[in-house]
This record gives sequence, C-alpha cells and structure tokens, in this order.
Amino acid sequence: MTFNDLNLIEPILKALDTEGYTTPTPIQQQAIPYLLEERDLLGIAQTGTGKTAAFAIPILQMLDQNKLSNKGPRPIRALIMTPTRELAIQIEESFAAYGRNLSLRTTVIFGGVSQHSQVNALRAGVDILVATPGRLLDLMNQGHVSLRNLERFVLDEADRMLDMGFIHDVRKVIAKLPAKRQSLFFSATMPDDVAKLADTILNRPARVEVTPVSSTVDKVEQVVYFLSKNDKKKLLVDILEDDAIRSVLVFTRTKHGADHVVKDLRKAGIEAEAIHGNKSQNARQRALGGFKSGDLRVLIATDIAARGIDVDELSCVINYEIPNIPETYVHRIGRTGRAGHDGRAMSFCEEEEQPYLRDIQKLIGKQIPVETNHPYAMRGASVPLTASRPTNQPRQKPAAGGGQRPQSSSGNGQSSNQSRPSRPAGSSGRGQVLQRNNNAGPGNQERNNNLPRPGSSFDREREPGTGGGGDRNRFRR
Ligand code: AMP
Repeated sequence: MTFNDLNLIEPILKALDTEGYTTPTPIQQQAIPYLLEERDLLGIAQTGTGKTAAFAIPILQMLDQNKLSNKGPRPIRALIMTPTRELAIQIEESFAAYGRNLSLRTTVIFGGVSQHSQVNALRAGVDILVATPGRLLDLMNQGHVSLRNLERFVLDEADRMLDMGFIHDVRKVIAKLPAKRQSLFFSATMPDDVAKLADTILNRPARVEVTPVSSTVDKVEQVVYFLSKNDKKKLLVDILEDDAIRSVLVFTRTKHGADHVVKDLRKAGIEAEAIHGNKSQNARQRALGGFKSGDLRVLIATDIAARGIDVDELSCVINYEIPNIPETYVHRIGRTGRAGHDGRAMSFCEEEEQPYLRDIQKLIGKQIPVETNHPYAMRGASVPLTASRPTNQPRQKPAAGGGQRPQSSSGNGQSSNQSRPSRPAGSSGRGQVLQRNNNAGPGNQERNNNLPRPGSSFDREREPGTGGGGDRNRFRR
C-alpha cells in the first residue's frame, strides 16, 4: 500500500513525499480511512508507530476541505491534547510538515513559559491547536481559547496523561467541547481507568491497535558488554572515540547517574549534555535541539525525559545501566533503527544487573550477543534466557503507561500507581475491533523504569508536568 491508496489530496501527498515517506505505517493504513469517514477512533499505539501522522494527515485534509468563510479570525477547529511539552512541540511540527502546502494554521501552547506569544498567536486565529492540559485550561479560563467551533478532538497518550495526574484537567476541557465532534483517543495501554475515560469521550469508535512490545527489536543490532560497574565510564569513552558513531543516546536509570556520565565524558574531552526532570525546560530544549540538529553528538537521558525524543537518524543507543523493567529496554532501543534506518544498541551489564538482562532476553525471546572484545570484559559472564530472578530482587510492577505521577510536595518520590496495565483485549471495548498488527514501527510499550535499584534511595526521575520554560521557536529544525 502507498499513500496514494488512501484518498489523500495532492498537497498532502506532496508534503509526505518531501518528508521522504513512501509507505504508510500500519496504524496509518488502518486509521486514516476511518478518520476520513469521520469516525471516532480508539488507537492503541504509542510514539514510534507513526501515530502522529495517522491523525494529523486526515485532520489536515478534512479541515482543508471544509473551508470557512474569510470573515473574522479563524476559530479553533481541531484540538490535540498531549501530556508533555516535548510531545506537543513534536506534534505541532508534524502538522506544520504534513500541512506545508495547505493554508491552515497550527499553534502549540504549553506551560512554564510566558503566555504572551501564545495569546498573540491565538488572537491572530488558528485552525489547529496543540496543547498540554494545564496551560490550555488556564488560557480557556482567561477567555483566550474558545472551543465553540471545534470539529475534531484528539486525546494523545491518554494512559500517560492519567498517570501524570491530569485527569481532572482533561475532564474539565472535555466538558467544554461541543457534543457534535469527531474524537480520537490514543493510548499505549488500556488499563480500566483509561478505558473508562475513552468511553466518556468516544462515540461508536473504530478501534485500531499496533505494536505488541517484543516485536520490533529485530532491526536493531544488539550487543551486551559484561563488565564491572567501575569500568562503565571507561568503556563508554572508548566507544565514543569511534567517530563512525554519529549520534548516541545514552540511557541512565537516574538523574544523578545522567549528570555523572556527562561529567565523566567531559573530563575525557567528549562533549555531552543530559536531559532529565531536574533540568530547566530551557536546558532540556537546548540539549534536545542540538541533538536533533546534529550539533550535539552525545545525549544522556533518563527514560521519562527521553520519551518523545524523535530523532530519525539516531545511530546508536547505549544502555549505560540496564533497565529493571524489560519493556523499557525495548522502548529504549526502539529509539534507534527508526524510519528504516539501521540501529545499534549496546548494553553495559554489571553483575547485579544480570537478572534484569535475563528478563529482557525472555521478553524479546533471544539471547543478546555478548561483546567480549574489549579491555574490561568480565570472564565467563553470560546470562541464559531461562533462569529466574533472585528472590531478593522483586521486580516492582511498572506504573501504567510508563509515566509517573508528579511527586507530592512531601517529595518521597514513591509512585503510588503500581498496577500493571492490562493488555488491551481485542474482545472488550466498544466499536469495531481491527486486526492486531505485529509489524508496526519501532515504538513500544514504555513502563516506569525509574524504580529504585537495590539499595538506592530517592534519586528518581519524574515527569515535570507542564511547568518549566523554553521558547519552542528557538528549537525548530
Ligand atoms: P510517531 O509515532 O508519530 O512519533 O512517529 C515516529 C517517527 O516515524 C517520526 O519520526 C515520523 O516522522 C516517522 N514516520 C511517521 N510515518 C512515517 C512513514 N509513513 N514513513 C516513514 N516515516 C514515518
């Protein structure tokens, strides 16, 4: 199937061609026809599957075809609500890219920055608004946003939205939407509370589902290095001395860990930046912008901060620490090998991380090849697929959908949500059940990886909500 088979208008086909897209991803193939028929949609998919284009393309097309009179400023006709600034910015960029040959206007609003330029953009009139919930509600309450004329509504990453504690804001926004509208609901997982929310928003939705967790890692070349904890920084420096590695995303489990790695690399003369929840929004955006543009070669990230990082030509992911939730491994390495590019994933495994590696290998159903040709190799180390985790290291269940609630002011850092999300059941839920597709893009379930390591205290990442700063315009590609 090509995009030509999807009944898309010429200006959009041309834009997709400019983007270098040739084949619609499974979620695009499945969702776009329903959406062009004005159906509501329940999409079980996450970042990396091409879901943004799956909703942006038909929305652009429908808005373009339903032109309004030229009188007065344009009313908001489509609203996309997403939990984080990074995602909001990326969605806005996608609308701009796919709609580059149309005369529709898109604006993004999020918290932590002055509302001034956002309000000005809204006053000038926008067709499509991408927003995080807090700032949206704020500007609605101030009378800067009217959703009276809304035709299309997308709730993106619903599980994460709930996980981050945005349910009340989301409900308040939904209460203000016109009853007659097309609604789209995307979530990576479908635990009960998310399914209930979907029920309140959608009307006889079509249902599409892609990407079971373990199916997408095959394109990525994976190796594991067994070594002692103290040797990790030396090995990282050695690896990064190879200029053939163009862009590297290094994952640590903790914020402090990320900062340490940056320090170690700088000492060795290698420029690197970290992104995590303790960094200001400006610092995060600057690092991310540099990484995307290719100016910054090495980015160190925690899992939550990295969610939503979308770099097409990321050549290498390094797991400086092995995640203790196996799905997180799949999600991490899915950051490379995207959009048809080859990718490489290297994992540094110290002795106490071997049970985590075993869980990962069980999930992906294969043993990761061991790289022994390095100066720090631990002799005889290998982790079979089958042995089970030691009883003194219980695996904590991940929080639904991978995000964490913002910490309470008491700041004990413990996530209260320990329930494992139920897998979306094909037979449950309303509306039409479509085939499950195992060949979607490289994105996968992300779960909460930021659980304390045995013996560690509260150095845990959290999602910083919609606060924080940053001027998005400085970071556009
Ligand atoms: P998303 O799941 O929306 O975050 O998209 C993941 C990545 O896939 C983004 O970098 C998109 O630009 C890219 N992408 C989306 N659709 C396609 C496609 N049909 N062909 C190639 N790349 C795509």
